[in-house]
Amino acid sequence: MTIGYTRPTKAIINREAIYHNIKKHQKLVGDDVDVFAVVKANGYGHGAVQTAQIAVQAGVNGFCVSLLDEALELREAGITLPILILGVIPPYYGAAAADEGISVTVPSYEWLEHATRQLIEDKPSQLPLRLHLGIDTGMGRIGFREVEELKQAIDFIQAHPTLLELEGVFTHFSKADSKDESYFALQQARFAEAMKIVPNGVRYRHTANSATTLWHDHWQSNMVRIGASMYGINPSGDELEPPFELEPAMSLETMIVHVKQVAPGEKIGYGATYETTENEWIATIPIGYADGFVRRFQGFSVLVDGEYCEIVGRVCMDQSMIRLPRKFEEGTKVTIFGENNGQVISLQAGAEHIGSINYEIPCVLSERVPLVYTH
Ligand SMILES: *Cc1c(COP(=O)(O)O)cnc(C)c1O
Repeated sequence: MTIGYTRPTKAIINREAIYHNIKKHQKLVGDDVDVFAVVKANGYGHGAVQTAQIAVQAGVNGFCVSLLDEALELREAGITLPILILGVIPPYYGAAAADEGISVTVPSYEWLEHATRQLIEDKPSQLPLRLHLGIDTGMGRIGFREVEELKQAIDFIQAHPTLLELEGVFTHFSKADSKDESYFALQQARFAEAMKIVPNGVRYRHTANSATTLWHDHWQSNMVRIGASMYGINPSGDELEPPFELEPAMSLETMIVHVKQVAPGEKIGYGATYETTENEWIATIPIGYADGFVRRFQGFSVLVDGEYCEIVGRVCMDQSMIRLPRKFEEGTKVTIFGENNGQVISLQAGAEHIGSINYEIPCVLSERVPLVYTH
């Protein structure tokens, strides 16, 4: 993949924002609760290794990722802290995880049996393989739903102490980010029920993503898994107010590369969907859907010199057009997300425009957009 280093389109990542966000979470949960930074999906588009390095400086206790490949990327970068894979790895990769001291999620009894059979064959250099049992209390994604099957898995792990270690038990809430707490309460009750059969010595019990950490007192957790809020993204959109200020870490900036005055009645862009109504200053910015700037951003406004300028016509693959209030020089900075001359555009505003959530926008920025770190 070619990265557009010479193009003025950049995602600027404020290191201090991530650092401060982590510090505020640590303060909120207190010394008895470990903080694991979730850096899956290339750190929600902020750069997995770079984010992890900031998190190490901030004193996190470990990391969560989704894929084995993401865990290995951190190990290759020299990260030695605990890493937990939250997704389901194929059971025949257990040895690869064990070799690197990477903890894995157990989604079912069947997976556990399969992974163990394979582990006996593969003889990893490091054992035991550390396991976290996922409890599906109502997310409907992965994990144990029946107490019987959970009991079977715990017995199985205890019967294989040289191969397997029960390091954690966890669940994931689907509605911790909402004013309506009834479904959260149902999931809580189910987790409490499952925990009755979990042996006491298990190191980690964890239930808290960002939203649970911020608004539910990291319920029943001695470890929290913070993703969105570490990057300064409010996990509730704007439904709930965080207990402390979240500093957005990412800005998305580009530059006017072409500017012209267009007579009234002229069309702009593919499909000729926009027509000028007067003499209009139309500028072109070098960002498009191949950068992860999806076509639904048509009609959204970006900032030039503190003024809102609408994206007119369709977003192209590599470029988009904006309407200026007056002439600006080629080379003028354009802020798509972030601060520009006292005005701010949030990821949340973008998400509302495209009918999505704030998480998605940084995650889908393509590799072509370079990440530039400041502070
Ligand atoms: C992604 C993920 C998280 C982090 O979620 P945020 O809302 O970004 O804090 C925590 N736990 C699990 C199981 C996840 O998949």
